[in-house]
Amino acid sequence: MNNGLLFQGFEWELPADSKHWERLTGAVPQLKDIGVSGIWLPPAYKGTSVFDTGYSAYDLYDIGEFEQKDTVATKYGTADELQTLIDTLHEHGMRAYADVVLNHKAGADETEKFMAVPVDPDNRSEELSEAREIEGWTKFTYPGRGDQYSSFKWNFNHFTAIDFDQASGESGIYRILGDNKGFAVAVDPEYGNYDYLMHADVDTAHPDVREELFSWGEWYLKRFGFDGIRLDAVKHIDEPFMREFIEQMRARVNEDIYAVGEYWTSDVERMRQYLDSMQFHMQLFDVALHFNFQRAGMEGEAFDLRTIFDNTLVKANPLNVVTFVDNHDSQPGQALESFVDDWFKPLAYALILLRHDGYPCLFYGDYYGIEGGEGKEDLLNHLLYARKEKAYGPEEDYFFDENAIAFVRKGDMEVPHSGLVCVLSNGAENGTYIALGADRAGQTWIDMTGNRGEELTLDEEGGADFLVNGGSVSVWVEKVE
Ligand code: CA
Repeated sequence: MNNGLLFQGFEWELPADSKHWERLTGAVPQLKDIGVSGIWLPPAYKGTSVFDTGYSAYDLYDIGEFEQKDTVATKYGTADELQTLIDTLHEHGMRAYADVVLNHKAGADETEKFMAVPVDPDNRSEELSEAREIEGWTKFTYPGRGDQYSSFKWNFNHFTAIDFDQASGESGIYRILGDNKGFAVAVDPEYGNYDYLMHADVDTAHPDVREELFSWGEWYLKRFGFDGIRLDAVKHIDEPFMREFIEQMRARVNEDIYAVGEYWTSDVERMRQYLDSMQFHMQLFDVALHFNFQRAGMEGEAFDLRTIFDNTLVKANPLNVVTFVDNHDSQPGQALESFVDDWFKPLAYALILLRHDGYPCLFYGDYYGIEGGEGKEDLLNHLLYARKEKAYGPEEDYFFDENAIAFVRKGDMEVPHSGLVCVLSNGAENGTYIALGADRAGQTWIDMTGNRGEELTLDEEGGADFLVNGGSVSVWVEKVE
């Protein structure tokens, strides 16, 4: 029995040296050692250039294998190097999850002319003027790949909207006209209808598009042996289509294919509705908890720590949630920048790694650093080992002060010497008496983080005053000689 741990294997500012699959392959033994059970890899297909993170997807079938966009390799490497990485992960008993970008395509090969109507970006149901002919970048012919793996070529009929008219040089949101065409209805309601996010928006209602994406997913997951998928930008994708995509992957590839979606909102009710519409066949990232962490970091002592899990998905739906502290979108300089303050990072990680609920995700940028900067490897290793070796058994909360909380994991017989007391403070030094039970009487306990240096001898009730420094976290565990 082992606690699972997801690792997000990239950050936004990685060097575009096409060496990342190699770097990650080298890191596999270390990641195994700190308890990682699954790794979420960045979008592996060709984007608009070698600098593209993969989220501006150009050709889903070019995994660094064809001379397209002036490069064979992607930002991260080649198809062969990706295969080596995934094989290495499997040899270590770890799983590989594919980042799946279905919402849009970027970097079309040619323009074409078609009828479209400009809509109000703030209310997409509002047409700004008469329909007119525009010239859009919507033809994807893939001259570098040809028909290998798929002969499907994209044109304007396969998209709902684009953001640029080449003929007039004007930007905007142009909804493409045609039979049965229009924005998907079952999407996020922001801006009247949030189907359109960026680039050429894929029309998932088109029968040829649906079949092409299903067969691509089958090809991609089978070819590399992926164990699961991370679905990008799901709030902009028709919900019934998304559900069917997951069902198709489980039917065509493997019934155990894992799925987690990125629905960027702190509105827990909206996330619950989405999970309901997905029939709970997937998990969502707990964006609401991330924002609580960000607020706690900014507000310091003014934040009531007892409310840290209020209005979060992990509280409302503990079975369908991936908890995280930060990711490639929330890191500094990105569109959704909302980075958690440095001082609060260890507290936030303790709150996702050591508790019972949620599948926690460790961010590459937090662990190895961003843009070559210093990571928090040494600091986080204590907490990661605590998750791997100690965070087992029933949980009890002691939210005893607005500036200090504690929780207990009682331990599990199957994991010798497991169990812990985690204490966190966002104010001054603090602590509370907790009795762990007479069976622990006389045990010596130490703070695994090293933040507190003293040893505690548990009294006849197995109790002690468990302390924490100001603005800090301590993880008290049984001292094992
Ligand atoms: Ca869309």
